[in-house]
Amino acid sequence: MANGICVFAENYNGNIEPVVAELVSAAHFIKKTTGEKIQAVVAARDCEQLAAQLEQSGVDEIYAVKTDRDCTFQDDALSQVLAEMIKRIDPASVLVPATPMGRSVFSRVAARLGCGLTADCTELLVDKREDGSFYIKQNKPSFGENVFVTIVTKEGCYPQMMTVRPGVYTPYEAAPDAEVKVEYFDDIVLPESKIEIVEALPASSDTDSILAAEVVVVGGRGAESEENFELLKRFAGKLEAAIGGTRPLADTGMIPFEHQIGQTGFTIRPRICISLGVSGAIQHTEGIKDTKLFVAVNEDENAPIFNVSDYGIIGDMKEVLQRYLEL
Ligand SMILES: Cc1cc2nc3c(=O)[nH]c(=O)nc-3n(C[C@H](O)[C@H](O)[C@H](O)COP(=O)(O)OP(=O)(O)OC[C@H]3O[C@@H](n4cnc5c(N)ncnc54)[C@H](O)[C@@H]3O)c2cc1C
Repeated sequence: MANGICVFAENYNGNIEPVVAELVSAAHFIKKTTGEKIQAVVAARDCEQLAAQLEQSGVDEIYAVKTDRDCTFQDDALSQVLAEMIKRIDPASVLVPATPMGRSVFSRVAARLGCGLTADCTELLVDKREDGSFYIKQNKPSFGENVFVTIVTKEGCYPQMMTVRPGVYTPYEAAPDAEVKVEYFDDIVLPESKIEIVEALPASSDTDSILAAEVVVVGGRGAESEENFELLKRFAGKLEAAIGGTRPLADTGMIPFEHQIGQTGFTIRPRICISLGVSGAIQHTEGIKDTKLFVAVNEDENAPIFNVSDYGIIGDMKEVLQRYLEL
């Protein structure tokens, strides 16, 4: 009988990726109801070093395969190893970061295992069937991000496999020196890959800057005019803040999608967030609810954004920013 919540320990350059700690949080949320063990799977040339990092991450069991070469980007070969590992571990669920690597490798793993793969979940909930078995409600935006759907893996089909969007869960803070079981599958060998890595270049996306920023200035439709957006950029520059926005700003291309905040965008946890010309729709405020200090500027005193802000300024953002910038 399938049992366990398995997390894919994505790694790069000898380090476990930070998103794995977020998935461990999601796994602990599931564990509270199902009581299952949390497992991590890792396959890499430097897997002893990675296993040592995972021992401090809050998982109960680590399953590892040491490969004879670096297999980063060799998704065809890596997916064969991971599929074999998951077959042996037989977990009830597998949580994968919704990153380019997670998506590419685990679509292949799912095909090998003949199970489904729900992509891009933003919320995982647990429910119980009449026979007492648990299942995961995999919530995610769908149909061009216009509706929120719940996907449930067919009864009796295991593992329930899903990718989870980075930034949704708060990274898990593990207790030090917890006892963790580590098992190596020495007989699983990395097969030949048809992919040859010619050159690796750092990603040009600056998503990280908004996820890691201490201060974020968020623009809404009220900042959509060229003049207002220019003021917003100068304001953000003065505060050395990252710029985020609501969906209308991403739709019009004023900000890249990677800077859209909300249910179908990214979740940010800055120290300070200042929002300008944002109405405060729930689909947006879900992405900023963990901000420590939240200031909102809106000309409409009844705007819902004031219900979630710590401080509010009722006024035209243009006037407010011009005064601040002393124009
Ligand atoms: C399934 C689904 C998922 C969604 N996901 C997201 C998401 O991830 N992120 C997201 O942001 N939205 C999302 N949305 C859209 C969301 O519902 C709202 O439509 C959107 O957040 C509104 O953006 P806004 O506040 O910029 O615009 P508006 O709602 O049009 O508000 C503009 C605000 O600016 C104020 N204003 C105008 N001019 C000025 C000025 N000069 N000075 C000060 N204030 C001014 C107005 O009073 C108004 O309150 C989603 C919707 C759906 C259905």
